[in-house]
Amino acid sequence: MKQVAVIGAGTMGNGIAHVFAQHEWSVALIDVQAAALERGLGVIRKNLERQVKKGTIAPDVPDQVLARITTETDLETARTAEFVVEAATENPTLKRQIFETLDVVCGDEVILASNTSSISITEIAACTNRPAQVIGMHFMNPVPVMQLVEVIRGHETSDETTRAVLDLAVALGKTPVEVNDYPGFVANRVLLPMINEAVYCVMEGVATPEAVDTVMKLGMNHPMGPLALADLIGLDVCLAILEVMHAGLGDPKYRPCPLLRRMVAAGHLGRKSGRGFYSYTT
Ligand code: NAD
Repeated sequence: MKQVAVIGAGTMGNGIAHVFAQHEWSVALIDVQAAALERGLGVIRKNLERQVKKGTIAPDVPDQVLARITTETDLETARTAEFVVEAATENPTLKRQIFETLDVVCGDEVILASNTSSISITEIAACTNRPAQVIGMHFMNPVPVMQLVEVIRGHETSDETTRAVLDLAVALGKTPVEVNDYPGFVANRVLLPMINEAVYCVMEGVATPEAVDTVMKLGMNHPMGPLALADLIGLDVCLAILEVMHAGLGDPKYRPCPLLRRMVAAGHLGRKSGRGFYSYTT
């Protein structure tokens, strides 16, 4: 069985671990917080049970998948991994530290992928001695359900690394799309300005969150309104992505809405905190 290390057990990390384990990889799920690991495993279990209820997997599969996942709090345990996907908090300094460590502990041939939503792959790669083997592998939320993987080539990413990650995404049952390394890549460069504008509509009293989302669902045929989607992504993650695009592209159109900042400051982060534009009971 091939071994992958997934760094970060939050919204994305647990989904990525789920998909790799379901495709017969042995997974080391690594997070600095033991509580996040416990929560992450709980989410994986719940999502596997949902797949059984839907009839997409057999009843004995959840135990087999969970048996392939070990949880760790020490980044050094990535030492034996043959492939690494980093899905830790969207913070450039933190990602640089993680990649510096991974570069030291992982074998020379190992590809280091980041699930970052917006941070420069080129910058992350430059902290390592293997920039040709650093790449963006941007899964969508919820990972077990969503088909797309945005594959981001940094300035130095090699053709071999890109080919390997495109093939891996297909082997995981996903559809990869290759893009280049500019802030927000494609998915968030297009999505986040829409979410930000929806938050402005609420702040300026143009409409309630329910009304904004209904307009976009019924009027534009979106399966989910932008504010419900922001709650799913995490309002802190949305803010972080807008900050990166604002700083990196220098255009005021990416300026985060003050209401988004205020909600994050208040700890209203969306689904993960139980409250965002909507309230959630776990
Ligand atoms: P999250 O806040 O839910 O989880 C982040 C996890 O990283 C936390 O459990 C935290 O304890 C852990 N962490 C922090 N520092 C760490 C370290 N040094 N080592 C190991 N773990 C550490 O965040 P998320 O929404 O899962 O986002 C993770 C990454 O995925 C970010 O780069 C984000 O931009 C990206 N992403 C998010 C979404 C989304 O919809 N939320 C979608 C695509 C990509």
